[in-house]
Amino acid sequence: MSKHVLIVEDDVDISRLLRLELEEAGYRVSTFDSGMRGLAAIREERPDLVILDLGLPDVSGAEIARRVRRTEATPIIILTASDDVETKVTLLNAGADDYLAKPFHVEELLARVGVQLRKQGGDAAIRIGDLSIDGARRQVFWSEDEVRLSPREFELLQYLATQPGRVYSRREIEQSVWGGDLPPTSNVVDVHVANIRGKLREAGGYGVIRTVRGVGYAIKS
Ligand code: CA
Repeated sequence: MSKHVLIVEDDVDISRLLRLELEEAGYRVSTFDSGMRGLAAIREERPDLVILDLGLPDVSGAEIARRVRRTEATPIIILTASDDVETKVTLLNAGADDYLAKPFHVEELLARVGVQLRKQGGDAAIRIGDLSIDGARRQVFWSEDEVRLSPREFELLQYLATQPGRVYSRREIEQSVWGGDLPPTSNVVDVHVANIRGKLREAGGYGVIRTVRGVGYAIKS
């Protein structure tokens, strides 16, 4: 069951690029090029997350966010051309959960989409085979046995489990779990993965996290 991301953006090139990248990352995507059509679709399709361009031809992204917020708690990320404080304040007041100034790196947008979706589903229970992750209690079990993880190890495992089978790059993991890039020489992600693997093995869970050489890690689906 992939998450549905709805994009409202009148720049066809950006919209197409975002669709490609998000679909590649395993999301279901729909795109709209006008504010009014987008707003109607948000109400009708009830997506898991909305990406809004601030500068739309008819209604501004901020106005759409404001209207959506009256009835929905859907996470909203706004794309803006300006990075000044005033714009940021306006967007956050309008109910945006996050914003990104253009031009941005697609990787950064993907990381932020992941953060918002995890926040929304942070309390959810995830079950993948014998592995269960209880987001509300922050507990992990292999079969019946509890696997005691450090807070950071828990975050990392929960992040990988967002989409089983999907390969998460080290950079994505750093940005989502550590909140920014770590020094290029840092092996902190690998060390944490090794610790999680060790703890899962102790409980009988082998081969849960797959290494994709030169890229990153994935949870076996
Ligand atoms: Ca625009």
